[in-house]
Amino acid sequence: MAVPPRDMDGTDVDLVVIGAGVTGIHQLKRALDAGFSALLLEAGSGVGGVWHWNRYPGARLDSESYTYGYLFSKELFEGWEWRERFAGQPENERYFNYVVDTLGLREHIRFGARVNSARYDETSATWLVRAGDGTEVRARFVVAATGVLSVPVFPDVPGREDFAGVAHHTGLWPDAPVGFAGKRVAVVGTGSSGVQVIPAILADVASLTVYQRSPNWCTPLNNEPITPARQAQLVAGFEELRETLHESASGFLHQPRDRTAFQDSKDGRRAFHERMWRSPGFAKVISHYADMFTNKAANDDWCDFMALKIRDLVDDPATAERLIPTDHGWAGKRPPFVTGYFEAYNDPKVSLVDLRENPFVRVTESGIETADGLREFDVVVWASGFDFGTGALNRMGVRGRGGLALEEYWADGPRTFMGLMSHGFPNFFFPGGPHGAAGNNPRYAEDQVDFIADAIAYARDHGHRAIEVPADTEAGWNGMVAELAAYSPFGEHSYFFGSNISGKPRSFLLNPGGRPKLREFMGEVLQSKYSRFLS
Ligand code: NAP
Repeated sequence: MAVPPRDMDGTDVDLVVIGAGVTGIHQLKRALDAGFSALLLEAGSGVGGVWHWNRYPGARLDSESYTYGYLFSKELFEGWEWRERFAGQPENERYFNYVVDTLGLREHIRFGARVNSARYDETSATWLVRAGDGTEVRARFVVAATGVLSVPVFPDVPGREDFAGVAHHTGLWPDAPVGFAGKRVAVVGTGSSGVQVIPAILADVASLTVYQRSPNWCTPLNNEPITPARQAQLVAGFEELRETLHESASGFLHQPRDRTAFQDSKDGRRAFHERMWRSPGFAKVISHYADMFTNKAANDDWCDFMALKIRDLVDDPATAERLIPTDHGWAGKRPPFVTGYFEAYNDPKVSLVDLRENPFVRVTESGIETADGLREFDVVVWASGFDFGTGALNRMGVRGRGGLALEEYWADGPRTFMGLMSHGFPNFFFPGGPHGAAGNNPRYAEDQVDFIADAIAYARDHGHRAIEVPADTEAGWNGMVAELAAYSPFGEHSYFFGSNISGKPRSFLLNPGGRPKLREFMGEVLQSKYSRFLS
């Protein structure tokens, strides 16, 4: 199904956006507001991106809901009442539908259109985008808002397809409810997804077996309802909230702390750790002692505190020890936030299989075999993670100038400018992609969306057909990423380095300079009026 040619430059639309997640929806809105014609292609059947695909029981935000939603319109903000500080998946999905319908965006979205090819034509400076549903559309600009966590991965265990029961990956959860009542259930993986599923299905299951390779430092989410009084406060304080979030390096309301750990006495530290344990979500990262990530002793001290908490919460001492990480400190990996997770292990229905002691052998028709034997299941939940950052973009058949394949250009890891464009791929942008992530996703992604919207409007208004980052400018950003990655709290065993995928190059996939660096680089481009970017 082709879109009929629109005008004399041979394009069908000015802009194709790929992906109806938090970033793609925003980019579509900005493009339409600027007078561009635009079509958004979405592989799924609905909007919301991760909140459409990850509909597993217990899926929930760990950024405060009102800091995650859009801030570009006060009316939009006022028209939606978040029910919980950290909203669950159904509420988030409803929110994105509310946004799309309120802004009249749905008619510009084509669902069930998974893009599998995007080719640049140098002569016309346009892209031909094709999707699996037969869509073929030529556009001046392509914005691939395909997300960093959109390609699910499974452990490389023989026989996975042989399992005769029900099996789902958390990131590909079906629309229809999955029955857990009275079932023997396995959950594989104890990252943010696995530790949310486990307590959420516990009441229903007959038995629950958790397969854990390495434990994470899980701390309480400390969720709470948003009362009408709090909602009124949020609406009244909208401008201030927006300003604070705009200025925040991480895109959260939590404020960094000046005090370092050993300025406090032992008792003072204990009291502060207790306060942190009771604080909401990412406050435990952002508002912790100022030297938490530069002074190993400060980090170890907090880890000792968390280990005591785990021993306190989990009745069986051997299980408690298995749940305490020994291979990384606080935020050496992306920390999950939990509700009732450790307590779940006190339920006699729950057992923990430590895959370091008993590795996988195979999956059979009836269950999962590890070195210590076969366990039989009715349902297997694969909470085994994603091909982070580059996964979706590398699989989309993107071909730039001279047929250059994006996955080849990125063979040693992504080479980007500001995590949103690459040399050799004119008029192609990927906000919210690799080298972009720096805290609360919608906040840094909106900086990128704004940059792209302004850049394409400038190109159009000044009669330019193509925007491309010069190679040396791109090298400047990549140099910054490589240099500052060394100071990131994340270790090389974190999936932020690609370490969860065998054969994937080890390279840092976030923006270690955060929004301040992003704004610094953007400022230079804007000041130069896109000089050397336009042709
Ligand atoms: P993840 O953090 O990558 O966790 C995957 C889990 O599967 C890990 O426990 C991992 O063990 C295990 N695993 C992977 N391959 C394995 C193998 N071959 N054998 C045995 N175990 C294996 O994935 P996720 O839990 O889906 O979370 C991904 C990200 O999504 C999070 O970090 C977060 O950014 C986001 N997320 C956010 C929320 C939220 O609260 N807002 C909720 C869910 C997800 P190892 O640790 O040993 O590799």
